[in-house]
Amino acid sequence: MQRVTIDDPAWLRAFPKRVAPLPDEWLVGLLLRCDEVNHWNSRTTFYLLKRTINLRGPWYIYRNLIVPHNIDLDVLARWLILPTSSLLATTYHEELVRCYGTTSPVSRLLTPGFSTRICPQCCDEKSLLMRNLMLPHIECCLKHHLKLARECQCGARLQLFSPDALPFTCDMCGLDWRKLPRIASDPKRIELEQQYLALYEFFLSQGTPEILKRAWQLAKVKLSDSRIRNGRYPTVDPSSPLPGPLVGPEPISESISVLVAGLVFFGLTPDDILTYDAPPPPYIEARTKEHYFFAVEVFPHSIVSKPYRDAFDHD
Ligand SMILES: [Zn+2]
Ligand SMILES: [Zn+2]
Repeated sequence: MQRVTIDDPAWLRAFPKRVAPLPDEWLVGLLLRCDEVNHWNSRTTFYLLKRTINLRGPWYIYRNLIVPHNIDLDVLARWLILPTSSLLATTYHEELVRCYGTTSPVSRLLTPGFSTRICPQCCDEKSLLMRNLMLPHIECCLKHHLKLARECQCGARLQLFSPDALPFTCDMCGLDWRKLPRIASDPKRIELEQQYLALYEFFLSQGTPEILKRAWQLAKVKLSDSRIRNGRYPTVDPSSPLPGPLVGPEPISESISVLVAGLVFFGLTPDDILTYDAPPPPYIEARTKEHYFFAVEVFPHSIVSKPYRDAFDHD
């Protein structure tokens, strides 16, 4: 590994090779490609960035690379000689700015947690970590129809960054992620994930506070109809609820991924939202007990596989 220190005034000259984002690439993949092209160990670019912007905080900061509310990408943009906008496009910052009408969105507005997984084929072809594969519910690569890998063949959970590993390799056994086995996804799972992705793409490309409110109201109306019809809340399968974290304070129950889980649970699509003609509720009404049904029941259970649930880091 080449030693680089930002205390060295000539360090920028030691940043010999630069990379630019690929279409649909996630920021973490860009950071790893930057390490790789410079023959650095994994995490070097991110570590330099953290030190330069004096970023503090625990390591679940990874989730904040999906929506970098406390990470100054201007610095990285200067290093890579790129406009900051092209780096923001590797995150969901701008999308959440529009969806929630805020200038400083946090990652919890998109997802209550984060789980590392990669498509070995995307890594093999372009060293690509796709941005939308970081969304909850997405367990397969819809381009290659392969299951996303969360673990190495040695059993170790994949770590995005590790100072002791090369980029895109297992930090325990050194296996290149590109050599991980390709496992075909179940066609039914692919079909289901297309529903999730259609809703994610709808909100992330067209979402506004008004549209989110309407979608929440539509989901709640479906829940209310079901409860009136059956005399109780719907049963959510499988019936092993996750403990605590999702019952936390706002904005967990405001997460787009929780809303998407609720909409898919009732088989609702972007068209249903667009054609729903009831008036949107006052904002206060969105924070009712029914709202939490989606956060504490539907969302945890919509993350289907137990290993995935175990690997999902809530805060
Ligand atoms: Zn892929
Ligand atoms: Zn391994």
